[in-house]
Amino acid sequence: MNPPCVELRNVRFTYASAGQTFRALKGVSCCIEEGEFVAIVGPSGSGKSTLLNIIGLLSRPTEGEMFISGKPLSSFNEDELAELRNTSLGFVFQSFSLVARLNVLENILLPLTFSRDGGSEVSAKYHARAHELLGRFHLDGLALRYPSELSGGQKQRVAICRALVMDPKIILADEPTGALDSINSREVLAALRQLHAEGRTIVLITHDADIASAAQRTILIRDGRDVSSPEKISDAEPSLPPAIELPTVEGRQETHLNKWNQRLWVFRQSLTLAGRSLKTHRLRSALTGVGLFIGILSLIVIDGLGEIVGNAFNKLFFTSSVRKAYIYLDDGEGRFHGRRSSQWRGLHAQEEFPKFAKNFEKKGIVRPFLRTSTCQIKTETGEFRSRLVGVSDPEEFLEMEAPLSVGRFPTSGEFFGGTPVAVLGSDTVEVLFDKRDPRRREPYFPVGTRLTADNCNTLGTFTVIGVMKKRDTSFGNRDANDVIYSPNQALLNRMGPTFYTWFSVLPHADVDTKHLTRELTTYLSLQSGGRLSFASSVPADMLDRVRGFLRIIQAIVGFIGGLCLFVGGIGIMNMMLVTVAERTREIGLLKSLGARQAHVRSYILTEAILLSSFAGCTALIFGFFVNNGFSLAVSWTVPLLKEFRWVIAPWGLIAGALVSVLCGVGFGALPASRAAAMDPADCLRSE
Ligand code: ADP
Ligand code: MG
Repeated sequence: MNPPCVELRNVRFTYASAGQTFRALKGVSCCIEEGEFVAIVGPSGSGKSTLLNIIGLLSRPTEGEMFISGKPLSSFNEDELAELRNTSLGFVFQSFSLVARLNVLENILLPLTFSRDGGSEVSAKYHARAHELLGRFHLDGLALRYPSELSGGQKQRVAICRALVMDPKIILADEPTGALDSINSREVLAALRQLHAEGRTIVLITHDADIASAAQRTILIRDGRDVSSPEKISDAEPSLPPAIELPTVEGRQETHLNKWNQRLWVFRQSLTLAGRSLKTHRLRSALTGVGLFIGILSLIVIDGLGEIVGNAFNKLFFTSSVRKAYIYLDDGEGRFHGRRSSQWRGLHAQEEFPKFAKNFEKKGIVRPFLRTSTCQIKTETGEFRSRLVGVSDPEEFLEMEAPLSVGRFPTSGEFFGGTPVAVLGSDTVEVLFDKRDPRRREPYFPVGTRLTADNCNTLGTFTVIGVMKKRDTSFGNRDANDVIYSPNQALLNRMGPTFYTWFSVLPHADVDTKHLTRELTTYLSLQSGGRLSFASSVPADMLDRVRGFLRIIQAIVGFIGGLCLFVGGIGIMNMMLVTVAERTREIGLLKSLGARQAHVRSYILTEAILLSSFAGCTALIFGFFVNNGFSLAVSWTVPLLKEFRWVIAPWGLIAGALVSVLCGVGFGALPASRAAAMDPADCLRSE
């Protein structure tokens, strides 16, 4: 006779619940030999199921020894036991325990999910086997039905198919006919007999004497003790050579090779299960996802709005002219020229200024503006007192980024030849030309008109060649629209030796505007012997402040978004905990089919990640539309921004995607590890 494949020696089992302990097995010794058909009988509550769970490697004895094919149970770790359950044991339960969300075929193939033999290449083999089993148990044509569409007898036969799909050596059946009528019972019993005839070991729990009589041997359990043959408690040495083929080291090595394939397979299976269960609880899942959806959406929208506001900002205010600063005598009023300007004659155009510009040429371009003394500026129909401003370089006009409403800027020829031409600031037109001046109706008015500038040393006549559009004076240059510009050379030619009192500075790319202006004002102040102080207008300064303010608002909105995210995540965790509680029995079943802790963890985690990524994806799509909707609204309502810009907000999208997955992992971790750690026998007992 073969050595026993499962041997129990004086096994005790104690349940501990609610602070109380209950001894369900009080010293059971028995052997299950290979190829035997054993019935375990006894009154209800005597410990039969407890014993079967131990034989079926679902729980470990509290005390006593147990050997599997001669090897002590303690030499197996949990994963190895799971693998044994998967490959060598097949369970049949009284209550069928089919997974309602999976169809018949998927239920039968469920053990394959946890098999080291899994993977898409081999699944074809098992598919064929599943169909063969369906045929054998008269279930042809039911492969695609769901458990709720089957009769009790059919369900139990499906459960038997599932128990057989991995071709196990041992079948463990806990009152498999308990929920069936006599006809179906007989059929199930016949199936078990046939399996025995094929050489499988059958362990069957029953309290039906008829059914027990089908077995070769009966183990009678009463009050946690084996009372079938008291003398049987032997001291025989455990037989060491393995009798049934356990997965060998060789087999494991082979599977190490396609570990990734394995993981992919498990992941795919988990995905199917998770997807199905989310679909089953659509409303619940959707409602749970909403919290996370809002959180992730706000991340994306905050980033998108940041981009829109940033773009609008750059377009409206932060032009390249903003990098440019102006240096002038500080008159305490924030104007370029004020009361105190008479205190400083300025830098001499031919002597002092070139030295000044050269001194700083490594850091930026310093250009002078010439200002005449106040003169009477006249046209044929109007006049006002002002000064002319000499512009020293054609670039200067371009860097002002002031478009012309009519006409043109001076050409370089006019610049360097000193041609007396003038470009008017928008507001000067009103005072220089009478409202009723008939020339106003001409399209190029006032281009081509002449103006004269008079003071003690007559400056002469200038031809108007262009008028600037109204310029924004909110950042810095407050006189911008009251100015009349002319090429520097044209003024110099008429003024003789003169002085510059006003400078523009454009820092080189890597030079900080503020730094440079500080150096320049210090330089000028030292030139005056410290007597005078100079000021600079750096428009970027003001913008930085506004920008900082916007950033604060963004941070506040971001914080609220983060809170939403957190609340959403808690929602997911909550739902997953409920899911685990609801599916305790199912988790027990999966474990009995050979699911390792890692499998169960991945199963629950996948569901959490799937839900959160779904919420995340929806948020990404929504966010994209919301952002671009805002952008469109801006382009419609703000005339200066009428060009529509696509808002991609890449960081928002990346963060959104990442956060959604991380939320799934983070908030699913607790429910998943709870599920993984649950005791399989306890799970199977839960209602
Ligand atoms: P049987 O299958 O023979 O009807 P069981 O093996 O299911 O009996 O249970 C044996 C005894 O252990 C019963 O008296 C039952 O009340 C008790 N029992 C089962 N599960 C638990 C548990 N989780 N906690 C405490 N007592 C338990
Ligand atoms: Mg029972």
